[in-house]
Amino acid sequence: AVPGVRATRTTDTHCPYCSLQCGMAVTAGDRPATLVPLDFPTNRGGLCSKGWSSAELLDHPERLTRPLVRAVAGDRTSPLVESTWDEALDRLVGAIRRTQATSGNDAVGCFGGGSLTNEQAYQFGKFARVALRTSAIDYNGRFCMSSAAGAANRAFGLDRGLPFPLSDIAEADVVVLVGSNPADTMPPAMQWFDAGRERGAQHVVVDPRRTATARNASLHLQPLPGTDLALANGLLHIAIAEGLVDTDYVAARTTGFAEVRAGVAAYWPDRVERLTGVPVPDQRRTVFALARADKAMILTARGAEQHRSGTDTAQAWINLALALGLPGRRGSGWGTVTGQGNGQGGREHGQKADQLPGYRSLADAAARAHVAAVWGVDPDDLPMPGRSAFELLDALGTDGGVRTLLVLASNVAVSAPDARRVISRLRDLDFLAVSDFFLSETAELADVVLPSAMWAEEDGTMTNLEGRVIRRRKALDPPDGVPDDLQLLATLAGRLGAGRHFSGDPETVFEELRRASAGGAADYSGISYRRIEEERGVFWPCPADDHPGTPRLFSERFATPDGRARFVRVEHVDAHERPDAEHPYVLTTGRVLAQYQSGTQTRRTRSLQLVAPTPRAELHPDLARALGIAQDDVVELTTRRGRARFHASVTDTIRPDVVFVPFHWGGGASANALTDAGALDPVSGMPAFKVCAVAVRRVSGP
Ligand code: SF4
Repeated sequence: AVPGVRATRTTDTHCPYCSLQCGMAVTAGDRPATLVPLDFPTNRGGLCSKGWSSAELLDHPERLTRPLVRAVAGDRTSPLVESTWDEALDRLVGAIRRTQATSGNDAVGCFGGGSLTNEQAYQFGKFARVALRTSAIDYNGRFCMSSAAGAANRAFGLDRGLPFPLSDIAEADVVVLVGSNPADTMPPAMQWFDAGRERGAQHVVVDPRRTATARNASLHLQPLPGTDLALANGLLHIAIAEGLVDTDYVAARTTGFAEVRAGVAAYWPDRVERLTGVPVPDQRRTVFALARADKAMILTARGAEQHRSGTDTAQAWINLALALGLPGRRGSGWGTVTGQGNGQGGREHGQKADQLPGYRSLADAAARAHVAAVWGVDPDDLPMPGRSAFELLDALGTDGGVRTLLVLASNVAVSAPDARRVISRLRDLDFLAVSDFFLSETAELADVVLPSAMWAEEDGTMTNLEGRVIRRRKALDPPDGVPDDLQLLATLAGRLGAGRHFSGDPETVFEELRRASAGGAADYSGISYRRIEEERGVFWPCPADDHPGTPRLFSERFATPDGRARFVRVEHVDAHERPDAEHPYVLTTGRVLAQYQSGTQTRRTRSLQLVAPTPRAELHPDLARALGIAQDDVVELTTRRGRARFHASVTDTIRPDVVFVPFHWGGGASANALTDAGALDPVSGMPAFKVCAVAVRRVSGP
């Protein structure tokens, strides 16, 4: 070795961002680290611009490398200054003890994220219940996947985003994508759609915008946001009227069809056209294409799911898929396209308010006994389910709410609905601690900020959108003294007197997770680090060492007690907020290709900022003309929550009555300062991110 020059090594791992978890090889030693894509089964050599640029952040100048505390303890108007780890942890542990002594265990809360590894998500749920003995824990996946998860659990008895491998998309003759835009959100996944299209497959996209995905589709349906449920019920109405229902499948594999048939009788095609704006001929083309295909699938995503009736909307599409006999057949079925990197694993291991590892219910006595035995605690000491994410955030600082909060891997000041209200609640806390790599908008409000290791600096597992458990491998060391969140939680537990229950070693925690998940819906007990290495990922459920894993679910039976899928009658309800004279248009939100989630990372990535430096409000030319707005003008959007300003993007790809803004920014251009948290989905707790009433006015020229 040459003195002063570190040897380089190359490590196979996965992209830190979305649920496709593209394979990449990171070469590190002499920084900056570099990466190349891998031929992993999901991305097959593809990466999007976010993945390609992900290594840029590892040595970004704004990277946090030392803890920050307020210069004057307890005074959040004083500046954040660097501190020792001892001082930062002393302040946090002191706040936890004071709060619990004065206000009870549930006054200390935890808020997690869908980017944590499986081990970290598992450890966070256990930390809340064992070290803090609080019921107050939830995570940002509540704002992402929870509606689809609720519908899948209700219909199939099991929630796995895609119940089949991604490669099945290429086999499908017809794919209906509802509120999903993979061409922008996960471009390498498009190769599976493209392979199908090259064989002659038809793709139908249901989206109020003519997105990059819609532009390549055979048919684009452009409904008013918030009416997807009515559309699905209308399509089922046509299927029944035209004799397209797979009656043998319905009789053999499902229950509840008669009730649903009665319910959709009222969804006449012309009524559905009035509700949704989708012409009757397009409704009919979609149903006939689905019903006549040998293999067909329906994929939903956030556009259909982030509504006050998100669970019922996902259910309506599942009802249609069941009536046509699709779920459980190869190359066919219903699935949801998960968003966050570990959106799937993040909801399986116990960081949700109502869940224990293995996707078990926290309210179930047998589940509590099983997990308590693995954790070495008394089941009676485990708290009961707590509040869902927005409810938890909205009660911060109140009597009966959380007064000291620990946030990992989440930037709720940007990503939560009605974000300014959430920021005000965060300010009401007695104490806020945030672990992150950068000073996010949430971290800026904290009493203590704890730097954490980034994706390429930590080991663990992730579960991708197909339910494939994969390895995140450490390619380089984090900055001196910076722990990953697994180690942080083990250290904190030690300071709280619960150290014997916690480890900072990922494989040790995974081995415990296997035991905790055994016999649960998401059973990882047959999965090991060794198997993941050898098999390039293992699909759960995998209940034994010699079990091959389960790439395709439901081929023989569903995960319900009687093995049959459940039809559930669901009805269209109007959006919580309807346009009126003061707020005459519909606002919807979403993502752009070159940014990710709350933007904490991608807004600091130079190459991505060049592509998407600021958020832009999309307006149809007819609307822009009526309001005197030209391309690039500054416009102000006003909803009942507040105002935000954007540059106008005048485009005929959007409905004339709808305005779109991306949600990756905070401050004066915060989309979520505008969104509606007034009505949560009663099943999932999902807020209505995708529809609220808005007014638009021109402020100035570009
Ligand atoms: Fe990363 Fe998703 Fe892009 Fe793949 S598609 S490179 S996982 S952000």
